[in-house]
Amino acid sequence: MPTYEYECTSCGNAFEAFQSITAKPLRKCPKCGKKVQRLISAGSGFLFKGSGFYSTDYRSKEYQQQAKKEKESAAPVKTDSKKEKKAKPSKKS
Ligand SMILES: [Zn+2]
Repeated sequence: MPTYEYECTSCGNAFEAFQSITAKPLRKCPKCGKKVQRLISAGSGFLFKGSGFYSTDYRSKEYQQQAKKEKESAAPVKTDSKKEKKAKPSKKS
């Protein structure tokens, strides 16, 4: 049985509910009785790992683009960038 995480949209109270997958999601905050929203997660461990990997990947992509841009504007000589492309192991063809 999964553990669902909820967060109150009114008072910000975050809590976990141990429910079966067929059970209806909770709607009310046990603290103030206002509406809660369910947080999508499959365990905090997985969440941390996933988001960490994603942000690293995103950052490196962005960094590469930025570096490429700077290189192109700084060095308009084509032979230089060609050399750089060949040395990169990221190409799959
Ligand atoms: Zn609340």
